[in-house]
Amino acid sequence: MKTQPVKDTSIRFDAPLTSLPGVGSKRAALFSRLGVGTVGDLISHFPRAYQNRGNVRLLSDCDPDVACSCLLTVSSVPRTAKLRGGMTLTKFTAVDETGRRATICFFNNRFIEKTFSVGQLWRFWGRVRRERTGLMISSPLHERADGGAPLPPLTPVYSLTAGLNGQLVSKTISDALSLIDRGSIPEPVPEELRKKESVPSAREAYGMIHAPRSMDEVALARRYFALRDALVFSVSLGVHRRMIKKGTPPAMKPVPADPLTDLLGFGLTGAQKRSIREISSDMTSGRVPMTRLLSGDVGSGKTAVAAAAAYIALKNGWQVGLMAPTDILARQHYAKLSGLFRRLGFETALLTGSMRESEKTAVRAGIANGKIKMAIGTHALLTESTLFKKPGLMIADEQHRFGVSQRAVFGNERQGITPHMLVMSATPIPRTMGLVMFGDLSVSTLDELPPGRTPVRTFCVDSSYTGRLISFIRKQTALGGRVYIVCPLIEKEEEPEDLVGGYDAGDENGSGRLCPAEETFSYLSSVLESDGIKVGLVHGRMKNSEKDAAMSAFASGETQVLVSTTVIEVGVDVPEATLMIVLNAECFGLAQLHQLRGRVGRGRAESFCVLVSDSDGQAAKERLGVMTKTNDGFAIAEADLAQRGPGDYLPRTDGSIRQHGEFPGVTSADMSMLKTALDYSAALLERDPRLDTAPDLRAETEKLYSENRRALQ
Ligand code: ADP
Ligand code: MG
Repeated sequence: MKTQPVKDTSIRFDAPLTSLPGVGSKRAALFSRLGVGTVGDLISHFPRAYQNRGNVRLLSDCDPDVACSCLLTVSSVPRTAKLRGGMTLTKFTAVDETGRRATICFFNNRFIEKTFSVGQLWRFWGRVRRERTGLMISSPLHERADGGAPLPPLTPVYSLTAGLNGQLVSKTISDALSLIDRGSIPEPVPEELRKKESVPSAREAYGMIHAPRSMDEVALARRYFALRDALVFSVSLGVHRRMIKKGTPPAMKPVPADPLTDLLGFGLTGAQKRSIREISSDMTSGRVPMTRLLSGDVGSGKTAVAAAAAYIALKNGWQVGLMAPTDILARQHYAKLSGLFRRLGFETALLTGSMRESEKTAVRAGIANGKIKMAIGTHALLTESTLFKKPGLMIADEQHRFGVSQRAVFGNERQGITPHMLVMSATPIPRTMGLVMFGDLSVSTLDELPPGRTPVRTFCVDSSYTGRLISFIRKQTALGGRVYIVCPLIEKEEEPEDLVGGYDAGDENGSGRLCPAEETFSYLSSVLESDGIKVGLVHGRMKNSEKDAAMSAFASGETQVLVSTTVIEVGVDVPEATLMIVLNAECFGLAQLHQLRGRVGRGRAESFCVLVSDSDGQAAKERLGVMTKTNDGFAIAEADLAQRGPGDYLPRTDGSIRQHGEFPGVTSADMSMLKTALDYSAALLERDPRLDTAPDLRAETEKLYSENRRALQ
């Protein structure tokens, strides 16, 4: 950690970004696109990886395709030449310790000429290209290396947004760190716990994560943040449980669900029947509101169970909310269920963000006056408070976002009655994890798949198989099948660098270039068009209407190949899909791969999943190996937990769940750390239920789930 000035200034953790020098409203608006509004948010914007600038190479050892670090002495006076079109080119030469020479050049930056003089030692960061005229580094980042203090070995790399470059983000963060009133940095983790777990303080951890002296410091800082998140989460869970236990449940009497299940068109599996019995008994016990988790593999038939639960609540005269994480999924549920419930006499309506304002208003009115009995929509809309007139059951689909369930329950309390809650997990929750986290919650497990499924056959290949895969796509589509192609990113990112500590770093370094969805889409379109095969594209940056259009074109067979990012991960049901190809499969976590693979093998035809990866990384190889060996979601979840730890199950401060790789390292809080946090929070809440002795922890908990505010008062 760089030593920060001890001088305290008045810029506080929660001050708006504009209190920093050089940040006006324009810049603040750009930062807000990264979710950064305050100085605290800014220093909580952690590097996604680090440039390994301390790893200095000789010019002869540089890989021309990867940016790296060289220590060079300037050996000629910089000269600027005018090029055609008003451009300028500034050039000089520099040598490494072996005397090897490279030309350094900068375009359109005449002032740079004055920066360098002969004899100076600089550390350059860039790609060393082999040109006809010799080695060449163009527009490298540069730091004076003979200036006394040693240069930091690791330079943070931040995720950026249009209009904010890396240097600006780094500079603003380092300003913030040196100007912030250090006393205003919240410390949610009590000292005794930090001591016990040997983690630094919040203040130290912020310094270490942005300006580490070594990767060990990065690891320490990450341990701190992992512990902090685990603790805030544990306390929230504890507070939530206390509230639930105090709540009055909606009164319900047992009713058979057969009128509904008879309409489904299939017989229920034993596991489905058992789960419905468990839910029914919770909802009709009259003791406490239900909080039950329905854990089941992809395709295990959670929807049917949810529908039966809804039916029981409806029959008892209560309203039901079914919440899906995305617009597409809410629509799909609505399409499947609304007819069913209408036939049974229950008015059902859809409420999603992409609907017209006037439609939304009408639906809201119907829910509020009780005419609409069953509302299907996105979480954001169904958790608005005072929406329902008589809410009896809230169902959250494809979720392990615990924040959502809390909001849904407490946002919908009416006249002192707390609705029942059923959460369906997107991925099977590993048993060991379940024991720790849901020790005193009830879990129903669908451990039996509906009959007639053939397991998806999974292969792992490298990119030299591209030609054969194209033939495979042709063959599958000729047989009437449809093909998903999943890419790790939407468009081309920055150039590859010698990074450490990122999600593709460590032993997975050098996995090569990533295939962007847009590029893959144009490539496949041109290759397959002549065969009459139509290719579609869907990704997260498209408008909802465009996403819907691309999805329905694929579902109807208008397009036979769909290139996508992980937006298709949750729940979409296209039974004709028989082949999924995942590009750069090493970029995805196990749970995610399993979830993705669940998109194929939904019909009668034999289905395939091909994982394409050129990575030599040990962890990546193990992950992909697990996928080829088993289709059992619980086994995969267990392997995932063993590899990466439970951090991915912890919510971010906005209550959503992290994506694999999004916040490297911090996601790998180990099980013992989570256990420690749960035990500590249980003891803490026991002796100090309102957290008077831990005000910062209390504030963080309230921030995570605003509903906790009431409980902690
Ligand atoms: P998930 O658990 O992934 O949400 P779904 O509820 O979407 O799974 O069910 C997957 C598919 O299996 C659906 O097409 C559904 O109609 C079908 N299905 C569910 N239960 C059964 C069953 N008992 N027998 C046959 N098909 C079933
Ligand atoms: Mg589902």
